[in-house]
Amino acid sequence: MHAFEYLRPAEVGQATATVAADPAASFLAGGTTQLDLMKDGVLAPDRLVDITRLPLRGVDRDGDTLVVGALTSMEELAAEPAVAELLPVVHEALLLGASVQLRNMATIGGNLLQRTRCRYFRDPTTPCNKRHRGAGCAALDGVHRGHAVLGTSEHCIATHASDLAVALVALDAAVRVSGPDGGERRVPLTDLYRTPGDTPDVETVLEHGELITAVEVPLLPPGARSHYLKIRDRASYDFALTSVAVALVVEDGVVRRARVGLGGLATVPWRAWAAEDVLLGAPARTDVFHAAGRAALDGAVPRRDNAFKVELGRRALVRALQTVSGVYW
Ligand SMILES: Cc1cc2nc3c(=O)[nH]c(=O)nc-3n(C[C@H](O)[C@H](O)[C@H](O)COP(=O)(O)OP(=O)(O)OC[C@H]3O[C@@H](n4cnc5c(N)ncnc54)[C@H](O)[C@@H]3O)c2cc1C
Ligand code: SF4
Repeated sequence: MHAFEYLRPAEVGQATATVAADPAASFLAGGTTQLDLMKDGVLAPDRLVDITRLPLRGVDRDGDTLVVGALTSMEELAAEPAVAELLPVVHEALLLGASVQLRNMATIGGNLLQRTRCRYFRDPTTPCNKRHRGAGCAALDGVHRGHAVLGTSEHCIATHASDLAVALVALDAAVRVSGPDGGERRVPLTDLYRTPGDTPDVETVLEHGELITAVEVPLLPPGARSHYLKIRDRASYDFALTSVAVALVVEDGVVRRARVGLGGLATVPWRAWAAEDVLLGAPARTDVFHAAGRAALDGAVPRRDNAFKVELGRRALVRALQTVSGVYW
């Protein structure tokens, strides 16, 4: 492994300033993605700024919003009573992600900023535009059964891997971000991620040195029901082939509020606005759910081996809507 300097500051300002000052510096949280990529020779930072000593752990309630410290582990957040009781979609997304050992190490901030699992990205001997802009994309004509059909470009078709991000994007969550100059800003999750376009190496709107300090998760309104459905090749633990996060309010048989996120299908955690438009104000019925499924996958661009994901995504959405509404006719 490439030699690097290791630092472990105790203040947020120190951490952000150190990373911002050095283009070859990186944050380290639980390390479950970052260290893997360094061992595989994909990343070679000269300086690693371990943030685990920063006071960014724990969950607070601020009115109707949960404020989750970025260093809270996935397992800690899943065990939080407000999450288990009021946000089933988040609870299920967390517990269907990785294994319990990983979830104990992995932090919420790191989960949202984890890198893709595209096998070519993780193999430095193959061309990958996400590793080196302009290098080419080995997945386009290679093994791409698990790759994206939404939000793709001819430069990259890699999926975003986080389950939690799919649930949070559907809930209108936002991240709090601290910058190297001491400034703070709030970024809605729907604005955080960038589709690849011709710069797949630029994955978010965060500047180098900006640190996620917390995630704001709005609680669902009374009467809402939510669910995370994950379809994967292996039941023990695996990344999503397709996943759906839904939150619905149904009153007198009519959908009064609808939130839909899709995972495993897109280059970013995907908010399915078109499906929500179909659902809103419509009767909660299976034919409407099918119309929402068609709208959600409208514009999908499948390739040789991942065309099955279009139908899988549609059906997964129908099933999730049936489960959450209790309507199967
Ligand atoms: C075998 C395996 C299976 C997995 N399965 C799943 C799965 O099914 N679903 C799923 O969602 N995930 C899965 N994961 C991914 C896992 O959840 C992530 O690796 C983990 O959440 C990353 O968190 P971390 O704290 O370890 O981040 P790190 O590895 O420490 O960091 C990840 C990235 O985020 C940056 N970073 C970390 N924290 C911050 C912050 N606060 N602000 C700014 N930048 C930051 C780091 O610089 C780095 O680039 C799996 C991982 C493995 C190894
Ligand atoms: S799909 Fe994206 S991450 Fe995978 S090889 Fe192509 S450019 Fe790289």
